Amino acid sequence: MSECIFCKIIKGEIPSCRIYEDDLVYAFLDIGPINFGHTLVIPKEHHESSATIPEATAGRMFRIGSRIGVALKRELDYEAFNLHLADGTAAGQVVMHAHLHVIPRGVEDGFHWNWRQLRYGDGEAAAVAEKIVKRLAATVAGK
Ligand code: AMP
Ligand code: ZN
Repeated sequence: MSECIFCKIIKGEIPSCRIYEDDLVYAFLDIGPINFGHTLVIPKEHHESSATIPEATAGRMFRIGSRIGVALKRELDYEAFNLHLADGTAAGQVVMHAHLHVIPRGVEDGFHWNWRQLRYGDGEAAAVAEKIVKRLAATVAGK
């Protein structure tokens, strides 16, 4: 993807503060961090959606993301970290090259997820679950 800014970062055509790199993934500092040290882990291969990333690469992204989270805690004195991935514009994805955010967190860092909790009516949860299970069985079988 020649126009993709994250592909350009991987190729070194756009500068980045590199945190980690191997054959499958590249990690670098987010230019607009929620907290300092906020890092993005991306597949070297261009994928818009997390759903098309091969299993080995997706596993590597999660593993390296978690290790970066631990490094952020130990070296920058954070207490915790969030792993976050926005898949699709409605979910907040702005850069259309899949990326895992590693966001270092402290109890009093002033950042809060606006996390609501809806409630299912009678039988609604089971009906929703049935649809998801059915679709998942088809897509996972097809890999
Ligand atoms: P998202 O909203 O999940 O698509 O996040 C995109 C992220 O990419 C944002 O947090 C941006 O700050 C970050 N970003 C965009 N351009 C760059 C860049 N050139 N270098 C580093 N981070 C970037
Ligand atoms: Zn790309």
